[in-house]
Order: sequence, then C-alpha cells, then structure tokens
Amino acid sequence: MIQFLDLKEINTQYRAELLEACARVIDSGWFVGGNELASFEKEFSAYCGTKYAIGVANGLDALILTLRAWLALGKLEQGDEVIVPANTYIASILAISANGLTPVLVEPDENSYNLSPENTRKAITKKTKAILPVHLYGQLADMPALLGIAKEHGLLVLEDSAQAHGAEINGIKAGNWGHASGFSFYPGKNLGALGDAGAVTTNDDELAETLKALRNYGSQEKYKNLFKGVNSRLDEIQAAMLSVKLRKLDEETQRRREIAAAYKTGIKKSKIKLPDVQHKAATIEQSYSHVWHLFVIRTQYRSALQQHLNEQGVQTLIHYPIAPHKQKAYKEWNDQSYPLTEAMHEEVLSLPISPVMTDEQVQAVISAINSFTS
Ligand SMILES: *Cc1c(COP(=O)(O)O)cnc(C)c1O
Repeated sequence: MIQFLDLKEINTQYRAELLEACARVIDSGWFVGGNELASFEKEFSAYCGTKYAIGVANGLDALILTLRAWLALGKLEQGDEVIVPANTYIASILAISANGLTPVLVEPDENSYNLSPENTRKAITKKTKAILPVHLYGQLADMPALLGIAKEHGLLVLEDSAQAHGAEINGIKAGNWGHASGFSFYPGKNLGALGDAGAVTTNDDELAETLKALRNYGSQEKYKNLFKGVNSRLDEIQAAMLSVKLRKLDEETQRRREIAAAYKTGIKKSKIKLPDVQHKAATIEQSYSHVWHLFVIRTQYRSALQQHLNEQGVQTLIHYPIAPHKQKAYKEWNDQSYPLTEAMHEEVLSLPISPVMTDEQVQAVISAINSFTS
C-alpha cells in the first residue's frame, strides 16, 4: 500500500539528529520555557521573515490566543464579525467562536479554494473587524488583494498558516502577510513536531508581548498576572525536535513540488480537476506560492475513484468530508447554503504526497488514476 503520509519513515530519516536533540534536553534538566524554545522561536521567525515567533501548545491555540490578545488590547470586541472561508478546516472557525466573536462564512474562490477577495468584499458590514484567510492545502490565499481590502476597511488580518509553512508570493512567506499568523506543527503538517505544537508569527511588539503573557497564565513575571491567561506552551522537547525538522523543511517542500509536478503532467483524466496554482511562475517548480501540504483533486466520481485507488494499493483521504456549517457543533448554520463549499466537500480527494515517496510510487499513483474507468 502506498501510504498517504508515512510519518514513521519521514521522521526515521532524521532519527540520529532527533535523538541527539532529545538527549540535549534531558541532560539540560530544563523542560519548559528554556533555551530550546528561545532558539526555535528565533529560527522560525527568521525563516518566515517576521520579527517574532511565539511558541504555543498547538495551531488552534495560536489562532485562539491571537484573537484573545486583540480582545485584551481593545482592538476587537465581543460580537465583532470575522470573515473566514466556509470550506476551511473547522479549527479556523472554532478560534473565532471560542472568543465570543462572530464567524462570517464566505464561499471560496472556485479555482484556488482559498478565500475569494470578491466574496470577502461583499460580506463586509459595519461590524466586520477582521479577516481570517486560510492558506488551504498549502497554497497562499490572494494576500495582495485581501490586504488591500483590509487596509481600505481598517480590518485586522490573521492568517491561518497551519498548512502553508514556507509558501510565498513575491518572496514574502506565509506568516508575514497579515498582522499575525497562526501555525500548527501537528505531526502531519509540513513542519511537524513529534507531538502537538504551534506558533504565532507577527511583527507587532505589543501583540508579541501580550501573547507571551497569555500562553503563560497571563503572566510575564512570575506570580504577576496581567491577563486571564491559559497554559499553552511549546515544551523544550518539541522545540528541539522542531529545530531539527525546520532545517529539512525546504528540501521536503522541494520533493512535494516535484511530486505535484509529476501528478500535474502525468494524470490524464478529463473528469478529474487537478489543483490550480495561482500566482504562476514560468514553471510549476518555480511557483513558490504552493507548498503542497495536500494534493487535492476534484471529481464527481469520488467514491468510485477512491475505491479503485484503494484496490490498486493507493491510500487516499478526504479533506474534508463534512463542511463546517453542516456540523452538529454549528447546528445554528445547518440550514444555510454554501453551494460551492458543499460541492467541494462531496468531490475532493487527496492523493498521497509524502516527501519520502519514491519516483516509482509516484508513477504507480498516476497509473492507478489513469486506469480508472468511470
Ligand atoms: C491543523 C490545522 C489547524 C489546527 O492545528 P492544531 O495544531 O491541530 O491545533 C488549524 N487550521 C488549519 C487550516 C489546520 O489545517
């Protein structure tokens, strides 16, 4: 079976370095809030090109705490509207509702599946205070257009970069477009820890200070609490693992791009819509806007194709099977209609795109798809 994402194999490549980093932490006797976190934060902010990276416990907390910091700083108020793509992973929306803010769902762009600037503009009301673009599947949203709209209307921009470590347009990376950005380092993400971890990137001094307090019971100085904070810390072991993995990220992204290019040229089925790369460079390999967290195709014959691929030894997944507005968790939205979002949830299928795949495996996936007869 060609696995969708072989996490064991991915991490085994770096076994010696990971073990060495682990030993360094054990020998230091310091497990939370030490040198490993400080080093990783410095390395990751340098990678993204931002002034700060603030480590937190996971990607959802990165988004929740950024919005909470803006509430604490008086930049947002409860009940304010935040625009978010209707077809995102539900975490982006949970972060908004967790803070007593109102998520406003917007249909995506039909080709990129990212937040549509046109639909964003239409959704703006007097209560709109922020936009939360998601760089879905590893492709940057149209940040130049979205930032233009945000500037015009005085809106805050929080990027959800959980799927887009290293994606860039015009040399500016995910995490360095908005006022802040949330990253996840969940093991299956392009930059994955060996457990849960996340970070916020920003160039804003006040926001960075507030986040450092919020993640630590609202305290910057021991036993002095400025905010009603939480415990959401990135521990030393995970920070040490992430420093090792960050050094491999660009190489892994390069491999993902090669696989995506092979899929794009090799798959020849008129009834399958291949992913569209926006902000095109001369060739797909040079098109840095996409880091291919997922390679998502669309077809009306999804279940038959998925079954066929499974029979051919190719594991596929669906991102995501149920739209957020159709979830029980948001039953107040269950009657609403977002036709494009709903069609996507019925038609998308994610092919294996693991940086450890061999060329033979990539070709086997292509042949399996091309042998599908609907
Ligand atoms: C994974 C993910 C998150 C949440 O990250 P966790 O670390 O799992 O909490 C948020 N948004 C998107 C788009 C994601 O893919």
